[in-house]
Amino acid sequence: MTPEELKALIRTIPDFPKTGIQFRDITTLLGHGPGFAATVEWLAGEVEGAEAVAGMEARGFIFGAAVAARLCLPFLPIRKPGKLPCRVIGVDYELEYGLDRLEMDPGSVASGQRVAIVDDLLATGGTALAAAELLRLAGASVDRAAFVIDLPDLGGKDRLAHEGVVVRALMQ
Ligand code: IMP
Repeated sequence: MTPEELKALIRTIPDFPKTGIQFRDITTLLGHGPGFAATVEWLAGEVEGAEAVAGMEARGFIFGAAVAARLCLPFLPIRKPGKLPCRVIGVDYELEYGLDRLEMDPGSVASGQRVAIVDDLLATGGTALAAAELLRLAGASVDRAAFVIDLPDLGGKDRLAHEGVVVRALMQ
């Protein structure tokens, strides 16, 4: 399938989760078998060479885990606070309104392991930057991230590039 055909499978929901936000909904893409498969294939091609794939809760789990399995690589879940049963490390980061936090198992990464980040959507880059910081704290080397959707007006790609993470996105 072409990127244009895949883009047509994304649904836009106006005013979700609040007024003025145009929410890009990937569940319609997930509901299309060939579209989901082509998306995973594209993401896998972009992260090939990595030694592990990390995905952020929750939509990053869907694509990241599928990509990791496709490449026979470990999948590292980057979780919301309080979800992991083991000792964790965490990074706080700013959202438009307020703070959020990501956590991971520091023992899940080998020192210097090359880890690629996968998520559904890149907006300001705050979430992916926090994930990169967290993975680096755990000892990983993070130099690339692959997304289904990039919202270019929000500047995430440049922000990640500034931190040494090359961004690839299937569609804008
Ligand atoms: P950022 O941290 O500003 O780059 O926002 C990206 C994060 O918010 C990702 O984890 C996305 O899953 C989520 N997100 C933000 N806007 C949307 C949207 O329109 N659709 C789906 N996810 C979104």
